[in-house]
Amino acid sequence: MTAVIVDVDGTLAEFHPAQVHEWVLGPAKQWDPFFAHMAKAPVIEPIAKLVKLLKAQGQQIIICSGRPDSHREHTQAWLTRNAIPFDAMYLRPEGHDHVDDEAVKEALLSTMRDDGFDPWLVLDDRDAVVAQWRVLGLTCLQCAPGDF
Ligand SMILES: [Mg+2]
Repeated sequence: MTAVIVDVDGTLAEFHPAQVHEWVLGPAKQWDPFFAHMAKAPVIEPIAKLVKLLKAQGQQIIICSGRPDSHREHTQAWLTRNAIPFDAMYLRPEGHDHVDDEAVKEALLSTMRDDGFDPWLVLDDRDAVVAQWRVLGLTCLQCAPGDF
């Protein structure tokens, strides 16, 4: 299944690191205020449009985020409300709040491949994560400044 991996915060959903850093950019996460805030995040229209075009061309869309799997329904609801098509969603495993985003996503890539997906392209925003995707051999299009 030829697939494109798409991040959420800062890629599909408007995200301002200064507004959320106390909740999610350190090792101890506070997910409830983060999700209350991000529930209202506007969609980033050019990326939403690109994802829809890729889907219409027959690509599988894989949502991959450092958001926690324990709060999966929040992310699912936001994607549905904003009419973002996706075929699978891979999120931070429970008990891994202290793990850096790039390490979380490296592990999720292995799981995707085990599940039969063949990703060839990634859309992401955070510098450290973009660098890691490239180390892993994937082409990553960085869609916004990501030095945080
Ligand atoms: Mg992001």
